[in-house]
Amino acid sequence: MSSQISQKHPKGLYVLFFAEMWERFSYYGMRAILLLFLLDNVSGGMAMSAGEGAAIYGLYTASVYLLTLPGGWLADNILGQKKAIWYGGIIIMLGHIILAIPAGTGIFYLGLVTVAVGTGLLKPNISSIVAELYPEGGARRDAAFSIFYMGINLGSFLGIAIVGYLGEKVSWHMGFGAAAIGMLLGLIVFRFGSAKYLKGLGEVPLAKVSTPESVAQSGTNKMLGYGLIALLIVFLIVLQTTGTIDMTTAQGLAQGAGVIIVTISASYFLYILVAGGLTRVEQFRVLVLIILFLAIALFWAGYEQAGTSLQIFAERHTQRMIGGWEVPSSWFQNFQPTFVLIFAPVLASLWIYLSSRNMNPSIPVKFAAGLILLGLSFFVMVGASNIAVKGQLASPFFLTFTYFLHTIGELCVSPVGLSSYTKLAPKRYVSQLMGIWFVGASLGNLIAGIFAGGFDEENIMQMPALFNQVALVTTAFGLILLVFWKPIKGWMGGIH
Ligand code: GLN
Repeated sequence: MSSQISQKHPKGLYVLFFAEMWERFSYYGMRAILLLFLLDNVSGGMAMSAGEGAAIYGLYTASVYLLTLPGGWLADNILGQKKAIWYGGIIIMLGHIILAIPAGTGIFYLGLVTVAVGTGLLKPNISSIVAELYPEGGARRDAAFSIFYMGINLGSFLGIAIVGYLGEKVSWHMGFGAAAIGMLLGLIVFRFGSAKYLKGLGEVPLAKVSTPESVAQSGTNKMLGYGLIALLIVFLIVLQTTGTIDMTTAQGLAQGAGVIIVTISASYFLYILVAGGLTRVEQFRVLVLIILFLAIALFWAGYEQAGTSLQIFAERHTQRMIGGWEVPSSWFQNFQPTFVLIFAPVLASLWIYLSSRNMNPSIPVKFAAGLILLGLSFFVMVGASNIAVKGQLASPFFLTFTYFLHTIGELCVSPVGLSSYTKLAPKRYVSQLMGIWFVGASLGNLIAGIFAGGFDEENIMQMPALFNQVALVTTAFGLILLVFWKPIKGWMGGIH
């Protein structure tokens, strides 16, 4: 990999690298202080309970990833990726500007919705333009994605450091303002860089060529779609009226969103399996995609607790004094991108080394490893919370080690996951299935939010049990994958 990375890449890659770096600066920077701001009741925050704040956080981060579906669609059918990225970036910047205005709840929610809409427009399209720079695919494209992943994490690192510091130590709104400036820098890079180095890419929408069959097909699809929406609405009404979930509260709304996301994904998979006109081999590959979808959603559900339960743990239960200075609690979230920057090249070289000896682990084994590492990290947190429940501050070493395990896990699933998704997907469903990959992230983020609702100040005694649950569920799923890796690999039909 290192020799591939050092190969010359088109300058356009670096335009996308820096544009995405600044976008992630604004996203992760703002996200680092979001829950703190929602819970804060002393310095101008929203004074919510942990349940409510974490649900809002989950709804927000889940929407960001869910909105990549319409964002990708708009670029494919109407705007082309370049315009989608440009308008998306402007909308994100406006969202952060709105958040920077201390003008009460309504304006705050408007800001959140605006950022989510803009990100949905920008995020999927900036990645697909990276792919377009390398129409031949292959190892150079993989190397380009590794470089791009570094940009993502460099941006997260800087964002969490700067926005986190300003938000916690100066004022929340100053933090949100800094996120807006980050996005502005991204827009400037993109505007000037893309005019010169991305000429002819992402300009024309890939508007679908409609043959009579595809028109007829899309008529049936529409009917099915409407039917599904109607069923979903009925189901949600039943849940509401029977008191199973109460969608007038933030927590209930988050649970409702979970029902929607799960139903949409399950129906989508069922639809392409049954009515997608797949060959037998393709059907088995889709089964693998379903397993990977569940695994990645579960993985992000644990990993993205960096912004929820683990953020609460850093803030309330971790020893953060260095000399006389208190480290901002949001800075702990910075271990994830820092470890990615350090270990991405190490893992990439490990895969290359193992492949050269014909020992590169298969995709299900890598996913199993990711989940087991994640599970172990939560066992570490069980230890940390056993100290916290005694009323003592836990050593920062616990969170550091937890994030180390998260990141090694991430490097086993995230970069491989996306590329295997594109390879396993039946050709005509590739972009839809890439969207589903992001839906996995959406679901994971939502669960990370809902789950952290249990981390209330009054209820700290249940912390070890909560972390223990995550540890057991993720480790168990990982072990199941490990046991069945051979048949799953067989279902992949020669793809690896
Ligand atoms: N950290 C990566 C990014 O922001 C992956 C996040 C995700 O897919 N949940 O792109």
